Amino acid sequence: MPLYSFHCSACDAETELLMRSDEAAICPACGSDKMERLPSWVAPDMKMEKNRRLWRAKAAAEGHLSNYSQKELSTFKK
Ligand SMILES: [Zn+2]
Repeated sequence: MPLYSFHCSACDAETELLMRSDEAAICPACGSDKMERLPSWVAPDMKMEKNRRLWRAKAAAEGHLSNYSQKELSTFKK
Protein backbone atom coordinates (compact mmCIF):
# COMPACT_ATOMS: atom_id res chain seq x y z
CA MET A 1 0.00 0.00 0.00
CA PRO A 2 1.23 3.48 -0.72
CA LEU A 3 2.23 5.90 1.98
CA TYR A 4 0.23 9.10 2.09
CA SER A 5 0.80 12.29 3.98
CA PHE A 6 -2.21 13.88 5.65
CA HIS A 7 -2.99 17.09 7.40
CA CYS A 8 -5.76 17.01 10.00
CA SER A 9 -7.93 20.11 9.81
CA ALA A 10 -9.43 19.31 13.21
CA CYS A 11 -6.25 19.30 15.34
CA ASP A 12 -3.70 20.56 12.79
CA ALA A 13 -1.55 17.42 13.06
CA GLU A 14 0.41 16.11 10.11
CA THR A 15 0.91 12.39 9.74
CA GLU A 16 1.75 9.69 7.23
CA LEU A 17 -0.52 6.70 6.79
CA LEU A 18 -0.30 3.51 4.77
CA MET A 19 -3.67 3.02 3.17
CA ARG A 20 -5.60 2.16 0.05
CA SER A 21 -6.61 5.10 -2.10
CA ASP A 22 -10.32 4.47 -1.49
CA GLU A 23 -9.98 4.39 2.29
CA ALA A 24 -10.99 7.34 4.45
CA ALA A 25 -8.12 8.60 6.57
CA ILE A 26 -8.62 8.84 10.31
CA CYS A 27 -6.39 11.15 12.34
CA PRO A 28 -4.33 9.07 14.80
CA ALA A 29 -4.07 12.07 17.10
CA CYS A 30 -7.73 13.03 17.51
CA GLY A 31 -9.76 10.45 15.57
CA SER A 32 -11.20 12.99 13.16
CA ASP A 33 -11.86 12.05 9.56
CA LYS A 34 -11.29 15.64 8.43
CA MET A 35 -8.02 14.64 6.85
CA GLU A 36 -6.53 16.40 3.85
CA ARG A 37 -4.33 14.20 1.72
CA LEU A 38 -1.13 15.98 0.82
CA PRO A 39 0.79 15.31 -2.36
CA SER A 40 3.22 12.48 -1.73
CA TRP A 41 6.20 11.46 -3.80
CA VAL A 42 7.07 8.43 -1.70
CA ALA A 43 5.47 5.75 -3.84
CA PRO A 44 5.53 6.60 -7.55
CA ASP A 45 2.67 4.83 -9.26
CA MET A 46 1.31 5.33 -12.76
CA LYS A 47 -2.24 5.19 -11.46
CA MET A 48 -1.53 8.15 -9.22
CA GLU A 49 -0.32 10.49 -11.92
CA LYS A 50 -3.76 11.90 -12.64
CA ASN A 51 -4.49 12.51 -8.97
CA ARG A 52 -1.10 14.09 -8.41
CA ARG A 53 -1.76 16.59 -11.13
CA LEU A 54 -5.17 17.30 -9.63
CA TRP A 55 -3.67 17.90 -6.19
CA ARG A 56 -0.92 20.07 -7.55
CA ALA A 57 -3.36 22.10 -9.61
CA LYS A 58 -5.66 22.43 -6.62
CA ALA A 59 -2.82 23.49 -4.35
CA ALA A 60 -1.59 25.99 -6.89
CA ALA A 61 -5.07 27.40 -7.43
CA GLU A 62 -5.71 27.79 -3.73
CA GLY A 63 -2.18 28.76 -2.82
CA HIS A 64 -2.34 26.70 0.34
CA LEU A 65 -2.93 23.01 0.97
CA SER A 66 -4.96 23.46 4.13
CA ASN A 67 -7.75 25.46 2.56
CA TYR A 68 -9.88 22.60 1.34
CA SER A 69 -13.58 23.10 1.80
CA GLN A 70 -15.82 20.40 3.19
CA LYS A 71 -17.09 19.70 -0.31
CA GLU A 72 -13.59 19.18 -1.61
CA LEU A 73 -12.70 16.93 1.30
CA SER A 74 -15.62 14.69 0.45
CA THR A 75 -14.15 14.01 -2.97
CA PHE A 76 -11.22 12.28 -1.26
CA LYS A 77 -13.53 9.64 0.15
CA LYS A 78 -14.79 8.22 -3.13
ZN1 LIG B 1 -6.53 15.35 14.27
